[in-house]
Amino acid sequence: MTLFDSPSFAQHEGVHSFYDEKTGLKAIVAVHSTARGPAVGGTRMWNYATAAEALEDVLRLSKGMSYKNAIADLEMGGGKSVIIGDSRTQKSPELFKAFGRFLNGLGGNYFAAEDVGTSVEDIAEARKVTPYVLGLKDGPEASGDPSPVTAEGVFRSNLVVARRLFGKSDMTGLTVAVQGVGHVGAYLCEKLHAAGAKLIITDVNQDNLKAVAEKTGATVVSPDEIYSVEADIYAPCALGATLNPTTIDQLKVKAICGAANNQLATPDIGDELHRRGVLYSPDYVVNGGGIINVAAEMNARQNGTAFDPAWVETKLARLIETFEEILVRAEAEQKPTYQIADAIAEERIKAAAEQKAAALAG
Ligand code: NAD
Repeated sequence: MTLFDSPSFAQHEGVHSFYDEKTGLKAIVAVHSTARGPAVGGTRMWNYATAAEALEDVLRLSKGMSYKNAIADLEMGGGKSVIIGDSRTQKSPELFKAFGRFLNGLGGNYFAAEDVGTSVEDIAEARKVTPYVLGLKDGPEASGDPSPVTAEGVFRSNLVVARRLFGKSDMTGLTVAVQGVGHVGAYLCEKLHAAGAKLIITDVNQDNLKAVAEKTGATVVSPDEIYSVEADIYAPCALGATLNPTTIDQLKVKAICGAANNQLATPDIGDELHRRGVLYSPDYVVNGGGIINVAAEMNARQNGTAFDPAWVETKLARLIETFEEILVRAEAEQKPTYQIADAIAEERIKAAAEQKAAALAG
């Protein structure tokens, strides 16, 4: 199968591969769409078994970024990059500088940020040679840790679910089962607790569990038990694909609303949840706070200003409105929420592409 026949190709605007002999860098950058602005998405470093596997991953993730950035109403397109290699043994400052120099060749069509296997420090190395990276820790435009904003978006989405599904003005009387109390999960638990929710939590990291349980009075269960607990909302905040044929049979909740990326193992799980009357909050909608935070860095750089939390708040509020619009449309059209979210993202990308084409045509 060639690149253009692959189902993951999905009309990508550009796919670029890079090799640097000196550092051993092997990287692929996929630019899915620049209709709404420069493509933005993380750089994943992973020990892919084959280049074909890396290509599949980067294409899939890059398309996902187009949707996530569009749903958050950011003037950014979708892209992603992968570096083939073991992030524990094959990283070096020179490798990330070589990556940065390659990004210069794309002339600002794609901006990279931290992702699985890469860190803020790696991005800072690349920044020494390229302006086309985002998610910095230092400097006036730096956006820093996106987790608190991601958690705030997931929290507000939980409030929307609480109001629409349970007729509540806060989380009082509701129980939320939180899987994973790391960066986002811990902030989320604090917010839910402060809003009156009862919490049931799990994690494989005992230190994280203990810290959150002490702060919030949460009940702790084992990782296997989290799916079947008596709760109103399940908030996956650890791994992807936790909504699969095995787990959805165990769920007793009426709604799912968490931060983890790629929660549906396959799209038909979204259809099945809809059939069973379980409200699924599309992951890339409710966890969009993180990319909004990153976008604020780009916005600051473009305007020559400092990072602006008020800009982040405006975009986050708009995202929560979009989330509610998705729920309203899903109910009216009797369709799964993930399909409505995708449709809205596609409408926005198409409209921007048409506008761009019209402007180019003069
Ligand atoms: P994190 O690594 O800080 O936290 C994940 C937590 O999950 C850790 O405490 C880990 O021990 C735990 N965990 C791992 N495997 C587990 C298992 N099998 N059962 C229970 N717990 C398990 O990551 P994070 O930054 O908090 O992100 C959480 C999720 O949200 C990820 O899927 C991430 O892709 C997504 N996300 C994060 C952000 C962000 O701003 N950090 C933005 C968008 C999406």
